[in-house]
Parts: sequence; C-alpha cells; structure tokens
Amino acid sequence: MQRKRTVLLVEDEPSITEPLAESLGREGFETKVAVTVAEALELAPQLQPDLVLLDVMLPDGSGFDVCRELRQTSQVPIIMLTARGEEADRIVGLELGADDYVTKPFSLRELSARIRALFRRSEAAVAVGAPPTMVDLGRVQADLGGHRLLRDGTTLPLKPKAFELLAFLLRNPGQVFTRDQLLEKVWGYDYAGETRTVDVHVHWLRGQIEEDPGHPVFIHTVRGVGYVFRRPA
Ligand code: CA
Repeated sequence: MQRKRTVLLVEDEPSITEPLAESLGREGFETKVAVTVAEALELAPQLQPDLVLLDVMLPDGSGFDVCRELRQTSQVPIIMLTARGEEADRIVGLELGADDYVTKPFSLRELSARIRALFRRSEAAVAVGAPPTMVDLGRVQADLGGHRLLRDGTTLPLKPKAFELLAFLLRNPGQVFTRDQLLEKVWGYDYAGETRTVDVHVHWLRGQIEEDPGHPVFIHTVRGVGYVFRRPA
C-alpha cells in the first residue's frame, strides 16, 4: 500500500490550521501542525513531509528562516502563506527556495489547486531525473545522458554551459532561480562572472528550443527574480 502523503503545516493561527487540516485530510493527506519556527525545524527531519505549508509570521520568528533552513538539506515542495500581498514578501520567499505562495486570506480551493499543481511538477521532476533521459521539448529533444540537443535526429551545435543550464532547469521544473543561484549551480561557486552571463545563455537556449523565442513557453523570466522552467499545460 502506498504511504499516505504528509503535509507539515507551519502556522500558529487555529482559525487557519483547523479548517486547513480538515480539508487536506479529505484530500488524502495526513497533516502535522507546527506552531513555531523551532517546532517546524524539529519536526521536519523526523516527518520527512511530502509538502510544507509555511506561514511567514510565526511567534518566535519568520517562516523565511524555516524556508532557508529546510532548503539546506531538502528539496521538499514549499508553499508560503504570506499575510500581506506585498511583492517583496513573495519574492523573498521564492528567492529562498519556496516553490509557490498564497496570499491570505486564501480559499481552500485555491490552495488545493496550487498543491495539486506542485505535486504534478515534482513528479515530472522525478521522471526527468531518472537517467538516461530523453526529454521531448517539441521542437527539440534534450538528451540529458548524452549531453546533447537533437532536432529531427540531428545533433545541434551546442554551448556546453547552455546545455548544463537547460539540464539544471529541466531537473527543477516550476522552481524559480535567481541569476546568482544559477551562476552558482551551473557555473560553480568560484565563477566570477556577471549575472548577465545567465541572460546571454538563456537567450541562446530560447533560440534553440522555443517556437517563438520572444514568447517563450519553456523558460520563463520572473521579473525581478530570475528564471523558471515550466512545461506548457
Ligand atoms: Ca501567523
């Protein structure tokens, strides 16, 4: 039998946790609630949750700190529950590695739609991560094992770093990365390049994989943050 999916809900307001836990239960999730930063960081490694719902304003600190800590060791999907509609809050969350956010007050329906979308993406990521893999992008196929891009069976001329960037984004669909993060992940910690390097490579990749590079459907720009790879619906 398949193990029940577990959600770690980090939130101190019972008016939110109670209806939310009930609604998640109806959708087949087991929910554990942590009401403080300390409790969340203690529970997460024991629980190994499949999803974390994370409030920003907690009695002993900020949900952003929990997010940053979890990302040191885990790729668990994280949705931030932000109290204010402020763009700064949403961006900080995404920069720290959260996958998505909802703004309070949110409807349970909206949240469960976001959760389902997130699971679809993380399942796609697992499928993509299993080597050797051919990923079909419509116009071209990315051969992740063979490190090449193919069109109609022909290998395309390739900038190695551009391919590594594409492979990295493909393995982390739906996750937004800053230019600095991409420099670090793809070019390495010691790379003293400028973030413009990332833009140049993204531009080049779009020219190879997108039907219309001016209106990309795979590699999206997240204004003020960076880039994200999404599979077209
Ligand atoms: Ca709160």
